[in-house]
Amino acid sequence: MKLADKAVLITGSGSGIGRSSALLFAKEGAKVIVNDIDPGNGQQTVDDIRRAGGEAVYVQADVTDPESVESMVRQALNEYGQIDVLFNNAGISGVGAIHELEPEQWDQVMKVNIRGVFLPCKYVLPHMMERRKGSVINMSSCIAEIGLARRASYAATKGAVLALTKSMQVDYAAYNIRVNALLPGTILTPFVEEYLQKSYDDPESALQSIKKRQLGGELGRPEDVAQAALFLASEDSKFMMGSPLYIDGGVVFGKNA
Ligand code: NAP
Repeated sequence: MKLADKAVLITGSGSGIGRSSALLFAKEGAKVIVNDIDPGNGQQTVDDIRRAGGEAVYVQADVTDPESVESMVRQALNEYGQIDVLFNNAGISGVGAIHELEPEQWDQVMKVNIRGVFLPCKYVLPHMMERRKGSVINMSSCIAEIGLARRASYAATKGAVLALTKSMQVDYAAYNIRVNALLPGTILTPFVEEYLQKSYDDPESALQSIKKRQLGGELGRPEDVAQAALFLASEDSKFMMGSPLYIDGGVVFGKNA
């Protein structure tokens, strides 16, 4: 039980990587505060955790809205009295090269993927500072490191999250708070399925060509990223501070011939 007696808040955990992490963290003994903008999906994650014998509660919030996030953190603390781990997972995709994007589309991706990390941190960190302990996990992407066609807004946000993680770590190391980032490659979740449908005339052949980017020839699974998140959440990673953790099937550092 790597997370016994810990309370963990995971944003966007009604789907994909967040849901998979919530299920794994609960299995490892955590009390999970499941956040998602969509109450149906969030409650589904909670139901799945409880059915498996775990402990969880759903808290609705839009991570871009300060009042909503402040209230989420208050409800989480009322429920469990502590937040040991904050996993800033919620995020949206953004497709298009710069000249194809409308300013509003650009702003929306910035809002969810950057402001949506800033706000939960802003309201959870004072609590962690008071307790002088905590682990913050920020969801970046391997796209923070590589160029990828027609993903300008999304790449900019994930690069920002990585830079933010490093600066946060310097600010909060003195409070015994660790701040690390996850950099997944392409993971088969509803997020990627929607991206494939929206971006390509032939989603199946696009999927096959995306698979070839991985050295193993397969996409990652949400469970692969959940295991990496568990490592960052637990004491197993106690000497990791301000670090990027890649879970990308070799996309960043390897190259198929
Ligand atoms: P997903 O299945 O779409 O899950 C993301 C969840 O976040 C959804 O339930 C979504 O709700 C929720 N959400 C969106 N906006 C929100 C908001 N304003 N407030 C609260 N919740 C919100 O996506 P995923 O693939 O698991 O991705 C999770 C994270 O990993 C994202 O940050 C993504 O950028 C990152 N990532 C994913 C991949 C990949 O290949 N899948 C790779 C690298 C990084 P709705 O569905 O209702 O919008």
